[in-house]
Amino acid sequence: MQWFRGNSITLVAVFSVLQINNIQKSYGSVRALNDVSLEVPEGSVYGILGPNGSGKTTLLGILMSVLRPQKGNFKWFDGQFGDSYRKKIGCMLETPNFYQYLSGEENLRITVSISGRGDETDITRVLKLVGLYERRKHRFSTYSLGMKQRLAIGAALLGNPGVLVLDEPTNGLDPVGIAEIRELIRALSQAGHSIIIASHLLDEVEKICTHVAILKRGNLLADGPVSEVLMDEDVVEMDAANRQLLTAVLSDRGITTDTNKESGLVNTYFPKGLANLEYLNRTCMESGIILTHLSLRRKKLETRFLELTND
Ligand code: ATP
Repeated sequence: MQWFRGNSITLVAVFSVLQINNIQKSYGSVRALNDVSLEVPEGSVYGILGPNGSGKTTLLGILMSVLRPQKGNFKWFDGQFGDSYRKKIGCMLETPNFYQYLSGEENLRITVSISGRGDETDITRVLKLVGLYERRKHRFSTYSLGMKQRLAIGAALLGNPGVLVLDEPTNGLDPVGIAEIRELIRALSQAGHSIIIASHLLDEVEKICTHVAILKRGNLLADGPVSEVLMDEDVVEMDAANRQLLTAVLSDRGITTDTNKESGLVNTYFPKGLANLEYLNRTCMESGIILTHLSLRRKKLETRFLELTND
């Protein structure tokens, strides 16, 4: 269970639907996941974000029990549901091999009979939900890529699972298809599903996710609410004749700094819009430091992501 600040005074209890503890997975000499731990809050849209080869698919494979980790464990929320909770998870790890010559509806009927999830009325519900009801009698081969992807999400939604796990759900789609899938994910989230999405697209995670975990070469670099992890930042650059004294004075006031390796400038970081240059200048003056440089830069989200994932 995690606690988040709701409004100014109340603390809101948020249950986790999934807890991952110190997962490690190697393929021969390739370490795909290195000691990854995270918690997915109920009702969140949780993005597993990372460049190609960072371990996203491996992590989802482990969560769906397709792969086994060498170390660590994970637990779908079991206080209420016990082991049967795993069966309440809808999953789209890759686009399923639907039959080209059968209709969308017939394909879902086959999925129901193989997976044992859902029934005839559920098929209708799911087709409406993913916007394919009007096209349900048409052959799968006549569907656009976006429609095929939506049918795949529909298959994952059979049996009305509380949690959905989707690997790169917008992969290969054109902008219209991407927008449709995003809308669908938002609607599913509003309907109360917790959703875990692997993606290599920062933009996608920023637009649809409430929480994010950033992976790079199997290491978890950061995790938490998107608004905290991927926040635009104010960066204040400062300089003075005595840089050591400058960092010491700022540190005394609880302001952490780092030094830019190239320029030698002292940097401090604040949430977007909260840097107060006047305060910093006055603080330094009062401590006998004359600043020779004081400037504000806005750091874009993208820069932050690149900083996190680049070597
Ligand atoms: P992508 O976005 O390209 O699918 P990913 O973030 O999902 O990448 P994984 O597919 O989990 O990453 O791969 C993580 C690492 O493990 C990569 O270095 C990959 O080459 C390696 N890997 C994955 N599957 C295997 C396998 N079956 N055998 C050997 N190495 C593998």
